[in-house]
Amino acid sequence: MAGVAWHYVLKFIITGDAAVGKSSLLIRLTDQRFLNNPDPTLGVEFGSKLITIPEENKVVKLQCWDTAGTESFRSITRSYYRGAAGCLLVYDVTSRQSFLNARTWLADVREHADPHLTCILVGNKIDLCSDDGQPGRRPREVPTEEGERWAKEEGLLFVEASAKSGENVEAAFVQATRDILNKIKRGM
Ligand code: GDP
Repeated sequence: MAGVAWHYVLKFIITGDAAVGKSSLLIRLTDQRFLNNPDPTLGVEFGSKLITIPEENKVVKLQCWDTAGTESFRSITRSYYRGAAGCLLVYDVTSRQSFLNARTWLADVREHADPHLTCILVGNKIDLCSDDGQPGRRPREVPTEEGERWAKEEGLLFVEASAKSGENVEAAFVQATRDILNKIKRGM
């Protein structure tokens, strides 16, 4: 791979309800950091990250866009989705409402994005309901199997993650990127 900065540039969008952790996932991916109290008015809009897909021997530059607090406007639509190859559809495993609302977000993606877009459903904040006796735990409202089942029904990839601990954050992007590279190989 000597001399090659990257083989592909892929646009990703991150969508889902306010406060599910979209900005935090983006910051974790690009900056390996976590902010307990991010300023909601300073929504991170964009981040870029190089990842390697070893079995393909490929370096991929991810360009990730976050809705950055515009969830309530729902006017982002076409320009936001244009050219996107991947989408993280995020809910909070401690908020059933955010999981139910993911249906509306998916409908929006389906309406506006390229039909070949790869979408991964991400159940975020699993650190909150881990069983380690730390303070600040919250009960899980969406069992893993339920997220998994709905993702399967809708043809989405699926992962549970934590922007706080970092668990599965890069893995979510890598999983989606693998799927996109497979589609590119098949000429889709
Ligand atoms: P957004 O509105 O979807 O972009 O959500 P933010 O990234 O602003 O996060 C909303 C709140 O949830 C903030 O207080 C974050 O610190 C917190 N948060 C985000 N991700 C996680 C996570 O994985 N675990 C925990 N415990 N808190 C999180």
